Amino acid sequence: MTELTVSADIVASVHYTGTLPENGEVFDSSEGREPLSFLVGHKQMIPGFEEEIMGSKVGEKKEFTLTSERAYGDRDDAAVMEIPRAQFAQLEAEASLEVGMQLVAQMPHGPSPFTITVLTDDAVTADFNHALAGKSLTFAVEIIELREATDDEKSHGHAHGPDGHHHH
Ligand code: ZN
Repeated sequence: MTELTVSADIVASVHYTGTLPENGEVFDSSEGREPLSFLVGHKQMIPGFEEEIMGSKVGEKKEFTLTSERAYGDRDDAAVMEIPRAQFAQLEAEASLEVGMQLVAQMPHGPSPFTITVLTDDAVTADFNHALAGKSLTFAVEIIELREATDDEKSHGHAHGPDGHHHH
Protein backbone atom coordinates (compact mmCIF):
# COMPACT_ATOMS: atom_id res chain seq x y z
CA MET A 1 0.00 0.00 0.00
CA THR A 2 1.44 3.36 -0.97
CA GLU A 3 1.38 6.26 1.44
CA LEU A 4 -1.43 8.73 0.79
CA THR A 5 -0.57 12.25 -0.31
CA VAL A 6 -2.77 15.33 -0.71
CA SER A 7 -4.47 14.76 -4.07
CA ALA A 8 -7.93 14.78 -5.66
CA ASP A 9 -10.64 12.83 -3.80
CA ILE A 10 -8.62 12.62 -0.59
CA VAL A 11 -10.09 13.98 2.63
CA ALA A 12 -7.35 16.07 4.21
CA SER A 13 -7.38 17.15 7.87
CA VAL A 14 -5.02 20.02 8.59
CA HIS A 15 -4.12 22.48 11.28
CA TYR A 16 -3.53 25.93 9.89
CA THR A 17 -2.86 29.51 10.89
CA GLY A 18 -3.53 32.34 8.46
CA THR A 19 -1.75 35.66 8.92
CA LEU A 20 -1.62 38.92 6.99
CA PRO A 21 1.96 39.34 5.69
CA GLU A 22 1.57 43.14 5.92
CA ASN A 23 1.33 43.16 9.73
CA GLY A 24 1.43 39.56 11.02
CA GLU A 25 -2.19 39.73 12.25
CA VAL A 26 -3.81 36.28 12.60
CA PHE A 27 -7.13 36.31 10.69
CA ASP A 28 -8.00 32.65 11.17
CA SER A 29 -6.54 29.61 12.88
CA SER A 30 -7.53 26.07 13.80
CA GLU A 31 -5.38 26.27 16.94
CA GLY A 32 -7.33 24.99 19.93
CA ARG A 33 -9.98 23.48 17.66
CA GLU A 34 -10.42 20.26 15.72
CA PRO A 35 -8.33 20.17 12.53
CA LEU A 36 -10.09 21.44 9.43
CA SER A 37 -11.21 18.59 7.14
CA PHE A 38 -11.98 19.09 3.47
CA LEU A 39 -12.36 17.11 0.27
CA VAL A 40 -9.43 17.92 -2.04
CA GLY A 41 -10.20 18.86 -5.64
CA HIS A 42 -13.81 20.00 -5.10
CA LYS A 43 -13.34 23.75 -4.65
CA GLN A 44 -13.95 23.60 -0.91
CA MET A 45 -10.87 25.73 -0.28
CA ILE A 46 -9.40 28.83 -1.89
CA PRO A 47 -7.38 27.66 -4.93
CA GLY A 48 -3.84 28.47 -3.79
CA PHE A 49 -4.27 26.74 -0.43
CA GLU A 50 -4.83 23.35 -2.09
CA GLU A 51 -2.19 23.91 -4.78
CA GLU A 52 0.50 24.59 -2.19
CA ILE A 53 -0.11 21.43 -0.17
CA MET A 54 -0.65 19.05 -3.11
CA GLY A 55 1.58 15.98 -2.80
CA SER A 56 2.21 16.49 0.94
CA LYS A 57 2.19 13.57 3.39
CA VAL A 58 0.92 13.29 6.96
CA GLY A 59 3.20 15.19 9.33
CA GLU A 60 4.48 17.59 6.66
CA LYS A 61 4.41 21.30 7.43
CA LYS A 62 4.23 24.02 4.81
CA GLU A 63 4.30 27.78 4.95
CA PHE A 64 3.39 29.90 1.94
CA THR A 65 2.06 33.30 0.94
CA LEU A 66 -0.74 33.62 -1.62
CA THR A 67 -1.42 36.74 -3.64
CA SER A 68 -5.08 37.76 -3.69
CA GLU A 69 -5.80 36.16 -7.07
CA ARG A 70 -4.94 32.75 -5.55
CA ALA A 71 -6.89 33.55 -2.36
CA TYR A 72 -10.14 35.54 -2.20
CA GLY A 73 -9.70 37.48 -5.44
CA ASP A 74 -9.46 41.19 -6.04
CA ARG A 75 -11.82 43.73 -4.59
CA ASP A 76 -14.72 44.61 -6.89
CA ASP A 77 -15.93 48.22 -6.71
CA ALA A 78 -19.29 47.08 -8.14
CA ALA A 79 -19.81 45.02 -4.98
CA VAL A 80 -20.08 48.23 -2.91
CA MET A 81 -23.67 49.50 -2.81
CA GLU A 82 -25.66 52.29 -1.22
CA ILE A 83 -28.87 51.02 0.30
CA PRO A 84 -31.62 53.39 1.55
CA ARG A 85 -31.42 53.47 5.34
CA ALA A 86 -35.20 53.04 5.52
CA GLN A 87 -34.69 49.41 4.49
CA PHE A 88 -32.93 48.84 7.81
CA ALA A 89 -35.80 50.28 9.91
CA GLN A 90 -36.86 46.90 11.25
CA LEU A 91 -33.29 46.02 12.28
CA GLU A 92 -32.69 49.47 13.76
CA ALA A 93 -35.70 49.02 16.03
CA GLU A 94 -33.65 46.34 17.82
CA ALA A 95 -30.01 47.24 17.27
CA SER A 96 -28.03 50.30 16.29
CA LEU A 97 -26.07 50.25 13.04
CA GLU A 98 -22.34 50.93 13.17
CA VAL A 99 -19.56 51.27 10.64
CA GLY A 100 -17.66 47.97 10.51
CA MET A 101 -20.73 45.92 11.43
CA GLN A 102 -21.19 42.72 9.43
CA LEU A 103 -24.69 41.76 8.34
CA VAL A 104 -26.23 39.26 5.96
CA ALA A 105 -28.57 40.30 3.15
CA GLN A 106 -31.08 37.84 1.73
CA MET A 107 -30.39 38.00 -2.01
CA PRO A 108 -32.10 36.06 -4.83
CA HIS A 109 -29.07 33.71 -5.06
CA GLY A 110 -28.88 33.19 -1.30
CA PRO A 111 -27.53 34.89 1.84
CA SER A 112 -24.79 37.44 1.13
CA PRO A 113 -22.64 38.83 3.95
CA PHE A 114 -21.58 42.46 3.81
CA THR A 115 -19.81 45.06 5.92
CA ILE A 116 -21.17 48.55 6.61
CA THR A 117 -18.49 51.00 5.47
CA VAL A 118 -20.34 54.34 5.55
CA LEU A 119 -23.47 55.44 7.42
CA THR A 120 -25.46 58.61 6.74
CA ASP A 121 -28.96 59.64 7.84
CA ASP A 122 -30.34 58.42 4.52
CA ALA A 123 -28.11 55.62 3.32
CA VAL A 124 -26.04 52.64 4.35
CA THR A 125 -22.98 51.83 2.23
CA ALA A 126 -22.66 48.05 2.10
CA ASP A 127 -19.45 46.36 0.95
CA PHE A 128 -20.17 42.83 -0.30
CA ASN A 129 -16.50 42.09 -1.00
CA HIS A 130 -15.02 39.30 1.11
CA ALA A 131 -13.18 40.88 4.04
CA LEU A 132 -9.94 39.29 2.75
CA ALA A 133 -10.45 40.24 -0.93
CA GLY A 134 -7.48 42.08 -2.43
CA LYS A 135 -5.13 40.86 0.31
CA SER A 136 -2.11 38.57 0.24
CA LEU A 137 -2.40 35.81 2.84
CA THR A 138 0.26 33.70 4.56
CA PHE A 139 -0.64 30.23 5.79
CA ALA A 140 1.26 27.80 8.02
CA VAL A 141 -0.26 24.34 7.48
CA GLU A 142 0.39 20.94 9.06
CA ILE A 143 -1.08 17.81 7.49
CA ILE A 144 -2.70 15.85 10.35
CA GLU A 145 -4.57 13.08 8.57
CA LEU A 146 -5.29 11.86 5.03
CA ARG A 147 -7.84 9.29 3.95
CA GLU A 148 -9.62 8.22 0.80
CA ALA A 149 -13.01 9.92 0.41
CA THR A 150 -16.12 7.73 0.50
CA ASP A 151 -18.37 7.51 -2.58
CA ASP A 152 -20.93 9.65 -0.71
CA GLU A 153 -18.38 12.37 -0.06
CA LYS A 154 -17.22 12.37 -3.69
CA SER A 155 -20.77 12.65 -5.02
CA HIS A 156 -21.67 15.40 -2.49
CA GLY A 157 -18.44 17.30 -3.16
CA HIS A 158 -17.52 17.76 0.52
CA ALA A 159 -16.05 15.89 3.49
CA HIS A 160 -18.30 14.25 6.06
CA GLY A 161 -17.64 14.15 9.79
CA PRO A 162 -16.32 11.18 11.78
CA ASP A 163 -19.88 9.99 12.49
CA GLY A 164 -20.60 9.46 8.80
CA HIS A 165 -22.91 12.19 7.68
CA HIS A 166 -22.59 15.76 8.70
CA HIS A 167 -24.46 18.47 6.86
CA HIS A 168 -24.62 22.11 7.84
ZN1 ZN B 1 -22.90 15.22 2.18
